[in-house]
This record gives sequence, structure tokens and C-alpha cells, in this order.
Amino acid sequence: MENYGTGLAGLFSFMSLYALLAWFACGALASHVASEKDRCGICWFVWGVIFGPMALLATVGLPDKSKPRGVEAVTPKTHVLCPECDEPVKNEAKVCKHCGSKLVPVSQQARR
Ligand SMILES: [Zn+2]
Repeated sequence: MENYGTGLAGLFSFMSLYALLAWFACGALASHVASEKDRCGICWFVWGVIFGPMALLATVGLPDKSKPRGVEAVTPKTHVLCPECDEPVKNEAKVCKHCGSKLVPVSQQARR
């Protein structure tokens, strides 16, 4: 009977070890997917370890922050640097969104 008992305990510890490994793998994968999407990798590793495969699914479903859709990318063609605070603002902006200083839109500058 003693052998049976230890065998069962061994089986349980074996299984829990695998479950632990799988949970950590989920955490690692979730953190990898999250960091690919410009999210907090460490936070998602913790979520992955706590929630396992569910957190992994959540990170896969996360909207990608690193590639914003519908939002204009800041490029030299569409943005100029504010002379006051050196932050990029849109060409046609009349007021800097960062420091609030008044700006002259690029199209008006060209006319002068
Ligand atoms: Zn500014």
C-alpha cells in the first residue's frame, strides 16, 4: 500500500510540475506577444502565470499599439518641430499641442 501511495503522490507532483511548466510557458509566450505589440511584457508575464492560456489568448487578441491604425504617423512631410519645445506638431497647426505656443501654419509661411 505504501508503494501505491508514494506512486500516486509522485504522479501528482509530476503532473503539477508539468502544469507549472505549461503555465510558465504561457506567461513567457504572453509576455513575448505583448512586447511585440509594444505592451508591458513583464505585466503580461505575470498575467500569463496567473491565468495561463487565457492570458495568452488575451495578448493575441490585443490591438497592436506599435502599428496605430487611423492615426497619422509623425513624419517630416506632415509634421514640423515646434520652435518652442522641439516636439513634432502638424504642419497646419496654429497652436502647439505640447506647449501651447502659437505657430504659423506651413502653408501660410510659404505664401509670405
Ligand atoms: Zn511646442
